[in-house]
Amino acid sequence: MSPKRRPRLPGTPAGLEPGFWRTKPLEAMSPEEWEALCDGCGLCCQIRVEDPDTGETALSDVACRFLDLCSHRCRDYANRHRNVSDCVAITPANVRDLHWLPHSCAYRLVAFGFDLPAWHHLVCGDPEAVHTRGPSMRGELVSEDEVDWAEEALGEEC
Ligand code: SF4
Repeated sequence: MSPKRRPRLPGTPAGLEPGFWRTKPLEAMSPEEWEALCDGCGLCCQIRVEDPDTGETALSDVACRFLDLCSHRCRDYANRHRNVSDCVAITPANVRDLHWLPHSCAYRLVAFGFDLPAWHHLVCGDPEAVHTRGPSMRGELVSEDEVDWAEEALGEEC
């Protein structure tokens, strides 16, 4: 039986070692490698709603007001923690405990020993692939500024 082939890696930015996430522990990554790992899906910027009875959380189609709904990147990434007090910084130390992260999240995948999917930009070289072939919900979201939460809550009760 022939060994399983890993996908080619045309997406590695200049200065980064191709396939670095396969050999380097998260803790050993440079800031550039860490940032490059993000697939840009924006799913972590979608607001979760918690069922008060069961404690279960579900992903809403409402996004943080700082998520650019076209690029699906934070509009003020450098100041995100100042802008949004409960914006969680994903780190090598906490990523395994952030159960609300999507299963497709690159940090989560690598932390649990999985390879990146074929649509990840570091693998295929196309930053759009996360939106066209990956889990991104681009085009389906509204900003939290567009939502009347009182009306939403009222609607749910009816
Ligand atoms: S869910 Fe993970 S991979 Fe997707 S945007 Fe957030 S941090 Fe990046």
